[in-house]
Amino acid sequence: MNSYDVAVIGSGPGGYVAAIRCAQLGMKTAIIEKYSTLGGTCLNVGCIPSKALLDSSHHYDDAVKHFEEHGIEIPGDIKVNLEKMIARKQSVVDQTTGGIDFLMKKNNIDVFQGLGSFKDATRIIISGEETVEIEAKNTIIATGSKPANLPFINIDKERIITSTEALKLKEIPKHLIIIGGGVIGLELGQVYKRLGAEVSVVEYMDRIIPTMDADLSKELNKVLKKQKFKINASHKVKSVERVGDEVIVKADNKKGIEVEFKGDYCLVSVGRSPYTDGLNADAAGVKLTERGQVEVNDHLQTSASNIYAIGDVVKGAMLAHKAEEEGVFVAETIAGQKPHIDYNLIPGVVYTWPEVATVGKTEEALKEARVAYKTGQFPMRALGRSRASMDLDGFVKILADKTTDEILGVHMVGARAADMIAEAVVAMEYRASAEDISRMSHAHPTFTEAIKEAALAATEDRPLHI
Ligand code: FAD
Repeated sequence: MNSYDVAVIGSGPGGYVAAIRCAQLGMKTAIIEKYSTLGGTCLNVGCIPSKALLDSSHHYDDAVKHFEEHGIEIPGDIKVNLEKMIARKQSVVDQTTGGIDFLMKKNNIDVFQGLGSFKDATRIIISGEETVEIEAKNTIIATGSKPANLPFINIDKERIITSTEALKLKEIPKHLIIIGGGVIGLELGQVYKRLGAEVSVVEYMDRIIPTMDADLSKELNKVLKKQKFKINASHKVKSVERVGDEVIVKADNKKGIEVEFKGDYCLVSVGRSPYTDGLNADAAGVKLTERGQVEVNDHLQTSASNIYAIGDVVKGAMLAHKAEEEGVFVAETIAGQKPHIDYNLIPGVVYTWPEVATVGKTEEALKEARVAYKTGQFPMRALGRSRASMDLDGFVKILADKTTDEILGVHMVGARAADMIAEAVVAMEYRASAEDISRMSHAHPTFTEAIKEAALAATEDRPLHI
């Protein structure tokens, strides 16, 4: 029987990064993946394919709406070839997952393809083309998540679909009804909106992206409405029914009045659930929580002391970079180091255009915790860079401690916000004050000047360009 210092179950961004770090630290490492490609949800049916389609549809949208203003004339009609667009997405996915194969080889990590199930706390049975048993001193559970559903919805994967099917549709929906106004629903909604679909979002809470700062919801809502999204907040979906090629969604609005939506596709994007099917966690003494997550302590250690769990299958934000941080954390913990993760500084991003990005405390959280804070806000439209590229929507908002000026939260909507948020993460990691940022030179013209201006506004209310 093969014996390892560490076995990692699941090859998503949590699992494969954990395996690499374990190997770097000199541990004999195996990784087990039930699918034929490595990379998990993120690389195969999540982050990467969704961004590939967002980019393709963005090019199309620009060509149709903005090329003329830029003085670019295209003779004839601009058309979408969806099959080609989906094929390009798949080639991006294939290149990316192939890159993980390379990284496993480079780091001498043994890859097993098959479903990993615990026999006990140190032995794992892998059921693939053949059944193999391996022994591991330590195991890292990184089995991720699957799309969540509402109990009364029958997802047929043809017309009533999850994000996985939405990434490979064969036609552009005429009317796509999206249940859930969170990150995944809005990103995929924007893909198909740009390609010509009518898009209706039905959200249970009173605002889209409800976990983020309320000003971000408000701004994104405004922008998406301009893009002709139909957003229905405070709507409780009661039924989803397929009649032939039509999907009928019924929901109660705020006043309790029934509203009916009729479309040809319905994307159910109501979050994701932890995935532990077939893992046989019990046999290893690994406890699950009531919500089906693997229960872990502050060291990400499960109820079995040699077994750890990371990523979407444990508590916390369901994000690839959070899973990666946890992968490194656990590898270093097993190696006897004392790593640290500041969960407050895990950024969150929505890759719509304009993008939405956030880190630290929201204004609502600061109010609830009765923290005295001040706000500095700067609109993107006041920047020369924004005018040059015609990306005028959005703002940067900095929340800083009223007494010490320490930055407590940074929230932004705007072009390239996903990349810009890194500056805020660095600043907060080093416990910078708003004044610190306001005194740093920011290249001109860039979108990042909005961060400096917001910091100036937060410091002594002295932005320069507004
Ligand atoms: P996963 O990536 O889910 O990987 C788990 C792996 O374990 C899977 O490959 C699974 O097959 C395997 N597995 C499960 N059980 C077993 C078993 N018993 N034996 C063997 N293998 C097993 N996050 C971001 O940060 N940025 C984004 O832009 C983003 N976009 C997204 C877009 C979409 C459409 C979706 C669905 C998700 C997106 N996410 C994004 C979330 C991100 O994909 C997840 O947070 C991330 O993949 C979690 O990583 P993980 O390693 O915990 O698990």
